[in-house]
Parts: sequence; structure tokens; C-alpha cells
Amino acid sequence: PVQAVQRTLMGLGQMVTINASLDAETAELLCAEHGIDLQIREPESIEDTLLNQIDDKVDADEDLLERPPVVTFLGHVDHGKTSLLDKIIGLDVVSGEAGGITQHIRAYIVDKGEKKIAFVDTPGHEAFTEMRARGANVTDIAVLIVAADDGVMPQTEEAISHAKAAGVPIIVALNKMDVPGANPDKALQQLSQHGLLPAEWGGDVEVVKTSAITGEGVDTLLETILLTSEIHEYKANPSREAVGVCLEAEQESDRGVLAKLIVNNGTLKVGDVVVCGSTFGRVKAMYDTLNPRIRLEEAPPSTPVNVTGFDEAPAAGERFYVLDDIADAREIAEMRASRNREQHLGGHTVKISFEDFQAR
Ligand code: GDP
Ligand code: MG
Repeated sequence: PVQAVQRTLMGLGQMVTINASLDAETAELLCAEHGIDLQIREPESIEDTLLNQIDDKVDADEDLLERPPVVTFLGHVDHGKTSLLDKIIGLDVVSGEAGGITQHIRAYIVDKGEKKIAFVDTPGHEAFTEMRARGANVTDIAVLIVAADDGVMPQTEEAISHAKAAGVPIIVALNKMDVPGANPDKALQQLSQHGLLPAEWGGDVEVVKTSAITGEGVDTLLETILLTSEIHEYKANPSREAVGVCLEAEQESDRGVLAKLIVNNGTLKVGDVVVCGSTFGRVKAMYDTLNPRIRLEEAPPSTPVNVTGFDEAPAAGERFYVLDDIADAREIAEMRASRNREQHLGGHTVKISFEDFQAR
């Protein structure tokens, strides 16, 4: 009853009318006095409201169309990830790499017959374990590259646990079959010991023997990828606003920030307003990741694309969202940036584990 409430408040030294607002502390005292259970909620931030809405959006079955699989190459350094991808794409990136070590995340989408496949090649050096872990997050299928002359090595083991944690199917490419010291049986044995029992030994892991030099097995590897993809029926809704992940980004002197994004769902378009971590922008231009001279108007699901238009370089691994209103995007980005600054000043470092990352 109003009068009982007013009496209690008077006892707390507050003379209030029936329309008054109470501060949280007074409300708590009042409720305690009347035996009422009170929960105080902060108003939801625009970040939570808008982005949760997007995350929670369920696509109608009739909107879901087949999309290309996103395939990540994982494995020990020097086992041939970059070379195999070069062979598939018909490029030669490996011979131009500093110290033969991949510094950038490469991501391409290629036509294979009727179908498309998106490939992500991650830096293979141990120092980039975290980045590699992130690579598996956007992944539908992990191709584990194991050099047949070297067998399972420490980073192979890491890659196996990353792929298992991500819950994605694993295809093994037993590479360097052309090398005289190749010992495929030993490698298969080691893989079995790590819980990857080859199909030829009665298990469920497809193993393809390859050589990035002679090209042996490359077509079979592609067929195996497409078969795995058919079984899993990867789908997305190309008619919604895009969501996806920033693979990497850098400040380029001539065209500002260039961000490599991969679209998980929806279609990214030139002119779209995007927020990604603590950065935002309007997509100014999009370029094919294989041929930077090809400008794209649209990037459908599973497409990696180089994007200009961000105010600053977003961090690798951040999710991006397309919003209707650039003011909202700016507000979310600025809020996150100031939160990052606070955390930074407070001396906290925010380290994201692979499991957290998976959960995003
Ligand atoms: P990554 O670190 O896993 O990306 O490995 P790279 O693709 O950089 O390959 C490391 C080295 O192994 C390079 O010198 C390649 O030329 C060589 N290599 C890769 N695949 C093969 C292969 O199938 N056969 C032979 N003989 N050499 C290979
Ligand atoms: Mg490499």
C-alpha cells in the first residue's frame, strides 16, 4: 500500500510523493523493510541490445542456402601448409616468404568445378599459436598437414587439440610423399595414437597422401573436402546483414585501413555500416583476396574479402556486425575503446583463451 511505503520512506528521512523516483540504495532499504526480493539491473547498453539481437536472430529454413565450406590448414611449421595451398590456388607465395614462415593469414575462395571452397592458411610458427587457434574458429573443416618424412610433431599435436576443441571434421593430408625418407605408415601410427584413426585402418579420419611439389593427391584432397562438406551441408542466409570475423588488418599508407574479413553469414556490401571490436566504418571498397585488382560489390557467406573504410585497424579475431545506423556503430566502437582504455589503465590484461574464443 502507498501509505505503508510512504511511512517507511519517511522513516528513512525521505518525504516522497507517489510519482517520485528512488535511488537504488533507498529502493533496497525499502524492499528489505517490506520483505520484497529486489534485483537491480543496469539499463542494457546499445551494444548489448543491438548486437544480441543480431546474434539471436534465427534464419528461416527457406532463407538458408548452401554455402562453401571454410577450410583451415593446420599443422607443424614446414610441413607444407603454404605450399599445398599454393598448389591448389596455382600461386607461389611460399618462395617469397621471409624465412619461409607465413606472417599473414591468407584466405581465398576458389572455384572447384561447380563448387567453391574457402581456404585459410595461418601462420605456422609456434609464436602464433593463438592466432592459429583463432583460425580454427571460422573453420568448418580442418585439414591437418603432416609431413610423411617427419610425422607428428609438437605443433601437429597442438593443431589436433585445436581442431578437436573446435569440434570440426579433420582431414589429414600426409604431405611430402615425394621425399625419399617418407614413412607414411609411421605417421599413420602416430596419428592413431593421437585419436585420429585413418579410414584405411577402419577409423573415420580421411587421410590423403599428397605432395605439394608433384601435385600428387591434390585433386583427391579437394574431392575429400567437397565430400565432407556435402555430408555436413553448411548453410547460411545470404539475404541478411553480414556477420563475420576479422582475420587481420593493417594501416596502409595509401588507402587507410585494409581489413581482411571473412563473412560467416549474410552478405557484406559496399556502403554497409560495420562495427568490429572498437572500430567502425562504412565499407568503402572491397577487393578479392586473390586478385587485389578485382573490386567486389558484395561478399556472400564464406567469402574472405579485403575491406577499406574502417577508422582504425580492428584486431584479428574480432567479430564484425553490420548495423543500420552509423551513429550506433560509432557509439558501440567508442564505448568499447574507452572500456579497453580503462582496463588498460587498471593494469588488467585481457587474455582470451581458445575456449572463450570458441564461445563467442
Ligand atoms: P608451412 O610452414 O607448413 O607453410 O610449410 P611450407 O609450405 O612453407 O613448406 C616448407 C618447405 O617444405 C618448403 O621449402 C617447401 O618447398 C617444402 N615442401 C612443402 N611441401 C612439400 C612436398 O610435398 N614435397 C617436398 N619435397 N617439399 C615440400
Ligand atoms: Mg606457411
